Amino acid sequence: MSEPCASTRVTYPRGATDGTSTVVQVFPLQGGTGIITAETPFHPVDHTWPDQPADVGTLTVNGAQVAITDAITGASQIGSDRLCLGRDITARRGDDDWCWYVVHVTDAPYGDCLEWVGAQATLCVDSRRRASLSASHTACHLMAFALNEALSDRWRKVPNGDSLGHPNFDAIAITSSQIRTDGSTDTYRLGKSLRKKGFTVAATDEAPSLADALPNLADSVATRLNEWIGTDAQVRVDAHGPDLTSPREWVCDLPQGTATVMCGGTHVSRLSQLGTVRVTAELDDDGTELTITTTPSTADS
Ligand SMILES: [Zn+2]
Repeated sequence: MSEPCASTRVTYPRGATDGTSTVVQVFPLQGGTGIITAETPFHPVDHTWPDQPADVGTLTVNGAQVAITDAITGASQIGSDRLCLGRDITARRGDDDWCWYVVHVTDAPYGDCLEWVGAQATLCVDSRRRASLSASHTACHLMAFALNEALSDRWRKVPNGDSLGHPNFDAIAITSSQIRTDGSTDTYRLGKSLRKKGFTVAATDEAPSLADALPNLADSVATRLNEWIGTDAQVRVDAHGPDLTSPREWVCDLPQGTATVMCGGTHVSRLSQLGTVRVTAELDDDGTELTITTTPSTADS
């Protein structure tokens, strides 16, 4: 029988930016200290799909405040004392044989924090930065749904669809997604394997090449996205549990249906919080990489 696992409980999926919790582990890191609490509002960078950057902020114990400059994912196999951090984690995300932690990173020396285990910590996330990241992340999801719709007639075979029923170009072709305080950049691979799956990049009798369609593509994605923002639909994150690795689903009711996608990030609560969104689309020189940038007017520029 393994010991019960005490993975970090996270409150950021419901929008929290502060809280109090017990310090459960403190350990030295190169150039500072790692601090784990039982519960946290800090969103850590995901070790396998690092789309949304970590929250920053402060952590205060017994009146002593340290700056939290990063938050990373930590994991240790149940029964083992070895804590793996970030990319060194070998386990599959959410593996039940492992405990999963949010590790708050501070420059403060280990010696200043080592007596904090068992004490109450006050955790405070930089809420302005979080709001910008949330706006960028929500806009990024909407862009994906609008992009899937705009590209839907370029498929000769019908692959798996998104929750609005369009071929899921985003899920099939995405290679990286970077969410920033001032917007997001998503990169898609238009290689042989995508064409094999039935996606058409070249011109056909019915449609121009993707390169020629690019300005219209960006326009139609932006138009659809701003139409959705105009409905001021509610956005929520449905969590299947309280822990860092509990599956979570982003949900937004749009006029075309309910948009849902699995997501570990943070989001606005209503679409009007995005203001107006600008979208650009670019193809690289050999036409095998499509880059979309999505910029909400409410994000930090
Ligand atoms: Zn997401």
